[in-house]
Parts: sequence; structure tokens; C-alpha cells
Amino acid sequence: MMNNLFHKLPKLDILMQDKRLESCRESMNYNAFYTLVKDEIERFREDIKCKKIENFEKEDIIGSILEKVELVNENRLKKVINGSGVIIHTNLGRSILNKRVVEKLEEIAGNYSNLEFDLEEGKRGNRNSHVEELICKITGAEGALVVNNNAAAVILCLNEFAKGKNSIVSRGELVEIGGSFRIPDIMELSGAKLKEIGTTNKTNIADYEKAIDEETALILKVHRSNFKISGFTSEVSNREIANIGKDKGILTMEDLGSGVLVDFSKYGVIKEPTVQESVASGIDIITISGDKLLGGPQCGIILGAQKYIERLKKNQYLRAFRVDKLVLSTLEGTLKYYLDEREAIKEIPTLRMITENKLEVEKRAKKLQNLLEEKGIVTQIVESKAKIGGGSMPEETVPSYALKFNGNAQELERYFRLGSSSIIGRISEGAFILDLKTIRDEDMDIIVKKAQNFKS
Ligand SMILES: *Cc1c(COP(=O)(O)O)cnc(C)c1O
Repeated sequence: MMNNLFHKLPKLDILMQDKRLESCRESMNYNAFYTLVKDEIERFREDIKCKKIENFEKEDIIGSILEKVELVNENRLKKVINGSGVIIHTNLGRSILNKRVVEKLEEIAGNYSNLEFDLEEGKRGNRNSHVEELICKITGAEGALVVNNNAAAVILCLNEFAKGKNSIVSRGELVEIGGSFRIPDIMELSGAKLKEIGTTNKTNIADYEKAIDEETALILKVHRSNFKISGFTSEVSNREIANIGKDKGILTMEDLGSGVLVDFSKYGVIKEPTVQESVASGIDIITISGDKLLGGPQCGIILGAQKYIERLKKNQYLRAFRVDKLVLSTLEGTLKYYLDEREAIKEIPTLRMITENKLEVEKRAKKLQNLLEEKGIVTQIVESKAKIGGGSMPEETVPSYALKFNGNAQELERYFRLGSSSIIGRISEGAFILDLKTIRDEDMDIIVKKAQNFKS
């Protein structure tokens, strides 16, 4: 019997010429294709030897090769479908971009551009110039500078304005924000000295005033982002800090974290301080992330008076922290929508998901449920709470709907996550669910196909 099975194994050169493998032959280079087919035949030979299979057909080997080819042709960094219900998911790439913004990106990525070339003057230009005016127009700031991320923005500013001198920070703001952004460590790295004031739960104006001496370079206020202090608390507002700074002739800075450019309370979501409000408070320098609630690419934006921006432009760290054309192109595209808030809410995926009506989500849940049912897969629609995420609004949720699958939750979670199309769901109350908040119509066929092939 076993000998018969060995005889059934196809010959390498013949299998390589099989009609069903034609597209693989063309999509891969010869050596890679040769090795893959050879390895697959070997694998079947091993399985026969250790009696792992009792029978097989040539189709089984071909099917297995086709699956492998799909994986080989895929990049390691690849699309996943986010069914976790976390809108700004740092592990899944934070914000996703508008399709038209991505079209522009393609043009910039595949062509030469005027990245650092002034077309009017016909000479060297400045890469920051493409977005600075736009940022100032939207936020009300006098000047702006874009760097690799908000961590880089904070380091650059502290290094330029507080190196070797003291920076005053409230003990209630000495936080660690996801992915090891720790205020005391960042401070040390930048060469600025940390002067802690107040207590974890309470810091008042007198604490700031008392701490100021000739060693003080700046007062730093940090948005606590993914950490909440409640109960017996008090803190000093950015407006009060700005006033102390002006009184004493000390620079003030705010690490705002998420760059919120619209007032979310208008859309029934909890109020987050906006960048515009921070600028209006009189704080000298503000830093924000580009890929959190702003909804753009990974970057950090520094806002402040032109005289400060000019100094930062001459700092050597900027050469290491500067952004590339891909970021500038997508940042410009995203920011343009903010010129009209209604456009921003509609066109920027992160904002659309946060503000969209839950009936829209329910519609998508019903659509996916029907598509699955047509293939004989039964699911239940359940209400869920999608998280905003992204190191800001940590506990804030928006109403959503999810599909609950029948079957072993751990097995399902693993099955959907692995293989050639990765779908990330979550386990809730012992069941595997896909939250529709972060799933789009175009993802549905992929989900149905994957669900169909599940064998428990
Ligand atoms: C997220 C965040 C950072 C880090 O920003 P990155 O853009 O991820 O570097 C720094 N400070 C605050 C307050 C944040 O919320």
C-alpha cells in the first residue's frame, strides 16, 4: 500500500509543467518555483513515510503548492483586515488613509517630485514648505515643522530649547505612553534636566512659580493620553501655564499627543482638547502626532512662532528626524480635507469611523451576515463597543455592532489571523467576534471566502 503511494508521487519536471501551475511559473523566478515544487513533493513523501496520510491525489499537491505560492508572493508587511473594533490600533498601523490621498502618494512614490526644489525660483527649496502654510491655516499657529513622529518632535524641541538646563514637569504628567515613550527618559536623551513638581494627583500654580529659577529653560505640559487620574485631583491649565511663562520670561511647551483638529463633542463623542485651543491658549510650542486622531501618516508636527521654528530648522537632530516625500504627500492630502470640517469628517477614515452613526455599522453587520449565510455560515449580530484607541481617549468607546461566530473561539481566532489573508478579530465572552466598526464593504468578500474554508 505504502509503495503504491510512493509511486503516485508526481515527477518533479512533469509537475512543474502542469497547466494548473502556469500562473505560478510566470509570477516566480525559476529557482524559487523549482525549490517550492520540489519541497512540496518531498513533504508528501515524508508524510507517506510516517503514515501521516493514507491517500492523496495529484490535486492535493497542486492545491498545496498554490497556497504556498500565494504566501511566497506576499510581502512580510501586508494588509490585514481589522475586526478588532479598535479604530486607532497602534499594532495594526494606526490611521488608514483616504483612497484619493493614496492615489497621490502613488504618483509621488513612482516619480521624481519637487520635494526640495523651488519650481518658481528654479533652485533648491525646503521640503517643509509644502505643508507649513496649510498647517498654520488650520491650527492658527504662526509656524510649523514636520518630523518623523511626536517622540522626535519632543526630543528636538527639548534639545534645542532646554539642553543642559531645567524643564519643569508636574509629577502627574511623568507618564509612559505605549511603545516606551517615557517622559523622564526622553528628557534625558534630549539633554534637558527634569525638574519634577507637585504630586501625582495635585499640582497647582504655586508649584510652578516656586520651581522657576535661573536654571529654568522651559515649562513642559504633557497630555496624559492613555492614563487617567481621577478622584481628588487638580492640575494647571495650559492657559495658566502660558501666562506664568509670559510673566517670568520662560518658554512654555505642550506635548499634546494626539492632534485633534475637530471638536468631537459636536458629534456626541467625548471632548478632547483641540490643537486650535492649545494654540489659542498662548503656549509657545505644541507637539502632536500625525497618525492618531488627526488621521494622517506617521509623523510629528511642531507648532509655534516662526522664530522658534527657524531655530529648530538649524538643529542637527532635524537631519535625522526629517520626513520623506511619502509622508509629506499623504500629510498634505489629509490636511487639505480639514479646510472644510464636513469634508474631514466624511473623507478621513479615522474621523469617519469615530463619528459615524451606529445604524451605518448595523447595516454593514447585516450585509456581512447575509453574505455569510448565503454560504451556509450562521452568525449572530451583537451590539459592541468599539474603542477609539491610539494612546488617546483610552477608555472612550463608540457604539458598534459585531458578528459572533459559532465554534471554538481560540481556533477561529487563530484560523482567521493566519494564512494568506489575515483577519484580526477578538474573543468576547468566550466567542469569536468581528467588529464591523473597522470593517469596510471591500473587506467582506475576503472574510466570506476565508470563513468558507474553515474546517474545525
Ligand atoms: C502618542 C504620544 C506620544 C508619542 O507619539 P508618536 O507619534 O507615537 O511618537 C507622545 N506624547 C503623547 C502625549 C502621546 O499621546
